Amino acid sequence: MSSFIEGYKHRGMRRALIQQLYHKGIRDERVLRAMEQIPRHAFMDSAFVNHAYQDKAFQIGEGQTISQPYTVAFQSELLQLEPGMKVLEIGTGSGYQCAVLSVMGGQVYSIEYNQILHSRAKELLNKLGYTAQLTCGDGTEGWALHAPYDRIVVTAGAPRVPTALIEQLATNGRLVIPVGDRNRQEMLLLEKGDDETIQRSAYELFSFVPLLGQDGWVQP
Ligand code: SAH
Repeated sequence: MSSFIEGYKHRGMRRALIQQLYHKGIRDERVLRAMEQIPRHAFMDSAFVNHAYQDKAFQIGEGQTISQPYTVAFQSELLQLEPGMKVLEIGTGSGYQCAVLSVMGGQVYSIEYNQILHSRAKELLNKLGYTAQLTCGDGTEGWALHAPYDRIVVTAGAPRVPTALIEQLATNGRLVIPVGDRNRQEMLLLEKGDDETIQRSAYELFSFVPLLGQDGWVQP
């Protein structure tokens, strides 16, 4: 399946990608450094190694995609994840974003709806030596067992912000989620204040695969 071979070629391509991300406005050093060291090609089918370091989303099977590097960087930067923080990701997919959050020092929890993708990501992260707690289920319900989370990131396009995620967000926590219709979503940042009030800011438009489940889109 994936190619674990890592060489000069990959490192060079990754450096060029990091420069592109910098030019597109990503400035968080910890995000850029994490993405510079993680072999994104290992999260894709080995036939597509040459696509791994282009700033593009890519098919990972099961009708799902590994997010575009710029999108991963944008969400990770907006999170302002500090080492040691508990972070919940909805939509494990390939496991790439999990690896980024883990290298940034987060204590990572991630939920994937699709059983095949869940098992594959679990095996791969394990093999590559990245630490994250993974589960298979409906992420719109959050993961109450380990709540509250300092940071929550949703990597699929939502019709609205699931209430369980707001509930499971810690005081002074940040939730990053793309919300919109099935084609385009606005990146939202929700910050929970000391008095439990929610402050909401909107950023640029993205195009994610749909967030399914109870508090997501109904299955197509
Ligand atoms: N973060 C991923 C990109 C994931 S694409 C990566 O780095 O590769 C979005 C993923 O969200 C898909 O794998 C899809 O199966 C998953 N998904 C959709 N609805 C979900 C839900 N309700 N709970 C958990 N995962 C969900």
